[in-house]
Amino acid sequence: MDPCIFCRIASGELKTDFVYADEFAVAFRDIQPQAPLHVLLIPRTHVASLAEAGDEPLLGHLLAAAARTAATLGLTDYRVVINTGPQAGQSVFHLHLHILGGRTMAWPPG
Ligand code: AMP
Repeated sequence: MDPCIFCRIASGELKTDFVYADEFAVAFRDIQPQAPLHVLLIPRTHVASLAEAGDEPLLGHLLAAAARTAATLGLTDYRVVINTGPQAGQSVFHLHLHILGGRTMAWPPG
């Protein structure tokens, strides 16, 4: 059994409603939303973090897919966050882009 929870979501082993999906990435709602709309976009392939993602075409695709996902959700104003490493708040070690929207965002983030 693959121990990576996001791999299991991406493969369909764990039944999850995707708000966006394409050949390389899927997006689904965060289980602990930090905004009225909070979606995670992940690559289908396992990449532990941004620091280990050397695949520039994939990274470009994920950013474009994040914009498509936000548009699908009807968001015009949103924040995209990639926590990288435990000190930055990364808790799941499968690369993911947080897409947050539906409220006014503070800056700087905590
Ligand atoms: P991070 O702390 O940046 O690694 O973000 C991981 C995110 O994954 C957190 O916001 C969690 O709430 C979310 N999360 C963890 N497990 C699941 C799950 N099974 N389904 C949806 N979101 C999850």
